[in-house]
Amino acid sequence: MTEVITTENLWRVYKVGALEVPALRGISLQIGAGSFVALKGRSGSGKTTLLNCLGGLDQPTSGEVRVLGHSIAQLNDDELTRWRREQVGFVFQSFGLIPTLSAYENVELMLRIKGTSPQAGRQRALACLALVGLDNWVHHRPYEMSGGQQQRVAIARALANQPRVILADEPTGELDSATAREVLALFRQIVETEKVTLLMVTHDPLVDEYADRVLLLEDGQIVKA
Ligand code: ADP
Ligand code: MG
Repeated sequence: MTEVITTENLWRVYKVGALEVPALRGISLQIGAGSFVALKGRSGSGKTTLLNCLGGLDQPTSGEVRVLGHSIAQLNDDELTRWRREQVGFVFQSFGLIPTLSAYENVELMLRIKGTSPQAGRQRALACLALVGLDNWVHHRPYEMSGGQQQRVAIARALANQPRVILADEPTGELDSATAREVLALFRQIVETEKVTLLMVTHDPLVDEYADRVLLLEDGQIVKA
């Protein structure tokens, strides 16, 4: 099994005034290519901090993060931005769509930022929206769509650049359980068909039915891997 994400003794200590808050305390983990891994744990256990360190949105205090063969600490800011844009897709609890843009424009914008040609960008954006089942919603704006549909747009946007890794932080947190199930099934399908590796932070007990592996974080440490 090829490892896509590896961490070694990862620490992230926040400084709050004179206080030191250790959010991650020595995380060592390996995640294999093409797997759907769920990361559970109480509020405050360090899930978001870990995801941010893996996605290069935050720098660990010590320890190593390697994603797709890159040691993240060794990339400078420009390299990190480019790497993130090309290799990682992010999905958040609150969708994070631009409200004035249609579903199509939200997805296509990512491709434009990357410098994809307009024609290829159009094709890819439509293909991603079709993949998440929104063929008939491409010209709708976020406020015209349900929460589940908005999260599908966000998933299409995360897939646009054909990332190898998707990091999702409580993506079903604002959805009712029937809609959450649909979104989890969609993620499962995407892991199979798009050959991505998915790490999903969630409280949702439903995820156990869809994930290959469930990790449990407690006080910044992995207690079940
Ligand atoms: P989770 O996502 O599991 O709820 P977080 O990663 O957000 O947990 O937070 C882990 C711990 O780190 C908590 O104690 C939280 O208060 C603290 N923390 C998170 N972000 C910051 C920050 N920017 N500054 C200081 N402390 C933080
Ligand atoms: Mg969190």
